[in-house]
Amino acid sequence: MSQIAEKLAGIKEIIEDASKRDGRSVGDVCLIAVSKRQPDAKLEEALAAGLRVFGENKVQEALTHWQDRKGSYPDLQLHFIGSIQSKKIPDIVGLFDVIHTVDRPKLVPLLAAEMKKQQRSPTLLIQVNTGKEAQKSGVFVEELPALLAQAAEQGLAISGLMCLPTQGENPSVHFGLLRSLARQYNLPLLSMGMSHDYEMAVRFGATHIRIGTDIFGARVD
Ligand SMILES: *Cc1c(COP(=O)(O)O)cnc(C)c1O
Repeated sequence: MSQIAEKLAGIKEIIEDASKRDGRSVGDVCLIAVSKRQPDAKLEEALAAGLRVFGENKVQEALTHWQDRKGSYPDLQLHFIGSIQSKKIPDIVGLFDVIHTVDRPKLVPLLAAEMKKQQRSPTLLIQVNTGKEAQKSGVFVEELPALLAQAAEQGLAISGLMCLPTQGENPSVHFGLLRSLARQYNLPLLSMGMSHDYEMAVRFGATHIRIGTDIFGARVD
């Protein structure tokens, strides 16, 4: 068994346990392997271990990693988890199946127009800045209703919410807040939990967890 396959087996056990505690089954949680800043050999090892769902935060790197491999792996599913630059929207809509980081009103008409143009409809989530951190992307909780209303008005379907807990704080506070917002607005998808806190995220109802280093090892700079 490769190192990644071994890691994956351990992670799946933890997910299974945590989902049971939340009254769900392991299949209810989508594990996104975050492949940013990982070398080609690791990507190949991950594919050989059966992984098909990957997350990236930079468009150019994502194209380098996956554009050509898409041909050989038609069941590949790509998730965009980085901050969205307006000028990259055509590439993002063209490459990704799920976009986790819609975070400002300006993006709504741009995404709607590009999706129409390309006849593609990636699943969209809004990133919420649950800790109100100045340097972090995401809408503040009080801005969420307006952004949802604007998306609805302009025909852009929003399927869920995503957050990155404030470092040094108990992530459960952020996960609990995100879950209650998703319930309030009837949004089925919850993207939360990374290498160090995914078990807790699953216990709080995460439908998508984003794991990088715990699967691949340290990133290269
Ligand atoms: C890099 C990244 C991850 C993965 O982080 P790890 O700690 O390596 O698991 C998850 N989510 C986002 C938004 C990221 O940028």
